[in-house]
Amino acid sequence: MSIICERFDSLGLGDPSATVRLGIMGGTFDPIHIGHLACAEQARVAHGLDAVVFIPTGVQPFKRDKKVTDAAMRFEMCRLACASNPHFDVSSIEIDREGETYTVDTLRQLRAHYPDNVHFYFITGADAMLSIVKWRDSALIADLAHLIAVTRPGYVMTDEAKEELAAHADFDVSYLETTALSVSSSMLREWVGCGKSIRYLTSLAVHDYILARGLYA
Ligand code: ATP
Ligand code: MG
Repeated sequence: MSIICERFDSLGLGDPSATVRLGIMGGTFDPIHIGHLACAEQARVAHGLDAVVFIPTGVQPFKRDKKVTDAAMRFEMCRLACASNPHFDVSSIEIDREGETYTVDTLRQLRAHYPDNVHFYFITGADAMLSIVKWRDSALIADLAHLIAVTRPGYVMTDEAKEELAAHADFDVSYLETTALSVSSSMLREWVGCGKSIRYLTSLAVHDYILARGLYA
């Protein structure tokens, strides 16, 4: 069987009648920051998730022209950030896949790996949720996972947007208000670039990794 991640590979294998809830948090994570971590943790508790797996993207169709940090480094930063939380882990399945990254392929791969009693909860910022209807096979995504849309500072999901989402596919969406952490990876990259401190805006281990490698400088 293929490996999804170290900590949660055999999820659901015990009692087949016991439901296991797996949160899935996709992103570029260039770098991972407290906004990602806090929203995953709050979604975990709010929805009783047993585990959350962070899945850094490989080649993204929407970000093809943008310069993105080497996948192995983005993976390593996620690994460092997840290490201290036994409910978190990171998976390289999108990085290892050839070609462009599509969420539906990731969910299919997870579905093929885990038994049916493992239910998927795809966690995403409300801003990213708006573009989900444009994703390839969005109806299939809706079949494979519940969606948790977390609010994020600066991105308010209007009723119109929610209606648009509902009209496009049979999405099972829960909206979750999380603490407003006004951080983004782009902000962290920019701050490092101009010599500002990003300490406490990501985990200390990730902070140290970025500085030691001279990333974003
Ligand atoms: P960039 O600035 O490069 O776009 P980002 O901070 O948006 O990076 P991504 O890796 O693009 O990070 O985001 C991954 C997921 O995390 C997306 O679903 C996004 O909406 C969500 N997210 C990012 N920042 C926050 C935040 N501060 N609070 C809640 N969710 C967030
Ligand atoms: Mg983003």
